[in-house]
Amino acid sequence: MKFISTRGKSPALGFEDTLLSGLAPDGGLYLPDVWPLYSESQLLDWQHLGYADLAKVVLEPFIKDDVGSDVFSGLVDSAYRGFDHPAIAPLKQCDHDLWLMELYHGPTLAFKDYALQLVGRLFEHVLNKRGERITIVGATSGDTGSAAIEGVRGSDRADIFILFPKGRVSEVQRRQMTTIGNENVHCLAIDGTFDDCQDLVKAMFGDEAARKELKLSAVNSINWARIMAQIVYYFWAGLQLGSPQRVVNFTVPTGNFGNVFAGYAARKMGLPIDWLGVGTNRNDILFRFFENADMSMAPVEASLAPSMDIQVSSNFERLLFDLCQGDGHEVERIINEFRMSGTMDLPSGAQEEVGRLFTGFRYQDEQILSEMSAVLKSSSEILDPHTAIAFAQARIQGQERDHCNAPTVALATAHPAKFPTAVQQATGLYPSLPSRLSDLLERPERQTLLPNDYQAVKSHIMENARIILD
Ligand SMILES: *Cc1c(COP(=O)(O)O)cnc(C)c1O
Repeated sequence: MKFISTRGKSPALGFEDTLLSGLAPDGGLYLPDVWPLYSESQLLDWQHLGYADLAKVVLEPFIKDDVGSDVFSGLVDSAYRGFDHPAIAPLKQCDHDLWLMELYHGPTLAFKDYALQLVGRLFEHVLNKRGERITIVGATSGDTGSAAIEGVRGSDRADIFILFPKGRVSEVQRRQMTTIGNENVHCLAIDGTFDDCQDLVKAMFGDEAARKELKLSAVNSINWARIMAQIVYYFWAGLQLGSPQRVVNFTVPTGNFGNVFAGYAARKMGLPIDWLGVGTNRNDILFRFFENADMSMAPVEASLAPSMDIQVSSNFERLLFDLCQGDGHEVERIINEFRMSGTMDLPSGAQEEVGRLFTGFRYQDEQILSEMSAVLKSSSEILDPHTAIAFAQARIQGQERDHCNAPTVALATAHPAKFPTAVQQATGLYPSLPSRLSDLLERPERQTLLPNDYQAVKSHIMENARIILD
């Protein structure tokens, strides 16, 4: 299998090169040239598999030309071995046809571990095989940073620099990054928003000289391998709940559109999904787009669900590629126009197409808090603020949009203890961290403060990357 850029101007790559390069040289994102499509009988055969074994079969077509199946099997087993629940991604029934999938049983308590534990191991495997080193640079609105760091900490082959918006990630999120002692880990607190951090990273990838010298690599959800790994839990939930005979729906707290795109990918690969909920907080560009065809930028505002405080969702470009029937020039034209004018005009018919499959949803901070408090009373569940948005969408729209008695699965993307202040505000309870993280607030921190300035960030990385020092 080959992977092609959404902008159509970069050469197609195999899996290993796609993994290492992240963003395509033409600025696009990689997608498989042909999607695998699983039959009903294949899916039936997989109903009894555990999470790791399911990952092996679902992902095989993507990796098999480059990574042998024994090696891959070993990497998958080791990636999920450290998770603290035997089901890896347990499903909980909260009401008739209303389910919660807990995606916070990995090392950093957010769903990003499900991808990054595997992706970190894939990096290490490929770099060892090639005898190469890389520099990973990424932006985080909170959870990506720690999950990426956990995925590669201690690597001899990769240095990791994570940019985050100073003061806009929770203390737990920050400490999960800044208290990691490994020498290859660098946390950069930027005076700006998440979008600023993302723009700095994009500028770095657009800087041909820096890109080459540092052998830059990305672990943001622009990296195809992350989307790939996330496809697994959609199949997992579907098969647990009776797919392929039964249709299933998902609601996804959405920021960069990576997670919900993985659901869209699972549907392309044969999982019978009727609709996908795209939940937003007050940063509601995606909500406005799916509801009123209004894709216009507004300033980013801090909310109680900071991992969704995003206006420009990078992975939307992957959906746009399909909406443009795979025409990379058209994708590039639309994205450039959006960057300049702040609004997006889609090809005709595209809006109706997305409207059938995706449903937007928006919750303001007060609604998030009241949902958290109501769910504690009705189901004895403590939700984190991101999950509360998905839960509300599943509860409300699961009935409105359900044509076929299908279960709706709300994705629980973070453990409540990652956002203790919001949880306490909503419920009066202070959620405690799992015991393995109980001393997090006492561990020493290590971070560098930098202005929202490309040259300053670049010099810092150049001065500290081992690949340059070598
Ligand atoms: C990253 C994150 C999101 C957003 O996911 P995307 O893939 O960027 O859409 C939502 N909730 C939590 C808790 C996250 O960490």
